Amino acid sequence: MTSGGPLPYARQDIDDADVAAVVEALRDPFITQGPRVASLERAVAERVGAKHCVAYSSGTAALHGAAFAAGVGPGDEVISSPITFAASTNVALYQGASPRFVDIDPATWNLDTAAAAAAVTERTRAIVPVSFTGLPVDLAPLDAVRDRVTVIEDAAHAIGAHRHGRPVGGPGGADITCFSLHPAKTITSAEGGLATTEDDELARLLRLFRTHGITKEGIHPSPDEGAWYYEMQELGFNYRITDVMCALGESQLRRLDDFVDRRNALAARYRELLAGEDRISLPPEPPADSRHGRHLFVIHVKGGGANRRSTFEGLQERGVGCQVHYVPVYRLPYYRDRLGVPQDACPNAEDYYWGAISLPLFPLMTDDDVLRVVADLKDSLPA
Ligand SMILES: *Cc1c(COP(=O)(O)O)cnc(C)c1O
Repeated sequence: MTSGGPLPYARQDIDDADVAAVVEALRDPFITQGPRVASLERAVAERVGAKHCVAYSSGTAALHGAAFAAGVGPGDEVISSPITFAASTNVALYQGASPRFVDIDPATWNLDTAAAAAAVTERTRAIVPVSFTGLPVDLAPLDAVRDRVTVIEDAAHAIGAHRHGRPVGGPGGADITCFSLHPAKTITSAEGGLATTEDDELARLLRLFRTHGITKEGIHPSPDEGAWYYEMQELGFNYRITDVMCALGESQLRRLDDFVDRRNALAARYRELLAGEDRISLPPEPPADSRHGRHLFVIHVKGGGANRRSTFEGLQERGVGCQVHYVPVYRLPYYRDRLGVPQDACPNAEDYYWGAISLPLFPLMTDDDVLRVVADLKDSLPA
């Protein structure tokens, strides 16, 4: 990136091999449901060690499929973190269920999973912990309720991450793990999503939901019905991803480790340069023997909302792309006004929100870009 000019907060890295893979896919007879969908699914499953992977048209669609597969429906409650993208809990609403927010752990900024386990009632059908920023959420405290609820990890930020050597999305993790392949995320298929699971029945439901609930498997034709016969067994959607998108996704998957390494190197550089800066605190680090996915590098500006606002505006004036991830979901008017979700039940999320700023972080950033962002940040912080 050019020094001094506008710097985005995120940007995809598409190389010639990615372009060639897409062009090749476009010349094939099947550009939607061809061989590349299954090929990407196999490659991702192999990468994280999962038994099944089901690719979707977006991360949100994958989360919706997961909520369906978990049996989430009217009258049910779904517990999640307020510090996430609204899609994590919108999928509960799509299924007619009620989202419920449990506070974050201030030491990780992830859902406090011990508090979430303690909050489970007989109505709770699923818990959606988010591996926010790419720091793998600690799922162990949820073991106590695993027989009663389905754990759906929103790992939109965490592809390529692991916790104590256990890959996010692999065995020993959530019942279903969802990734996003949006261009702002670590690898992209333009739009796209993935759901992984060890469970055969959950995988069957994930596949069924992706294509209208229609199948030719496990069907019951009458004597005069032949090979054309199909059944719609559930109410699903058209959430299919295309072969063209999967060509890009699989090509990007080959670069996953390079991307995550580069993101971690950039984050380490930020930490080094910001170590003595006492007007901010630095983001939480994962436990030893774990790997951060590093989708985001979030700093926390001290001293309250006015300081965060002036710092954010200072960065913007200097051409540094920054964002706030996220406005707590219960503050969004749809949740607050229409659902009456309480505003102040999550003091840790509130404290986090009023200081948070995401700095630019993407593999194409140079070391000079980091120096420049740090200089602009220091100039933008309150004196
Ligand atoms: C990006 C994102 C999603 C949704 O993914 P899409 O592919 O954009 O639909 C869900 N949850 C979180 C935390 C995200 O960051």
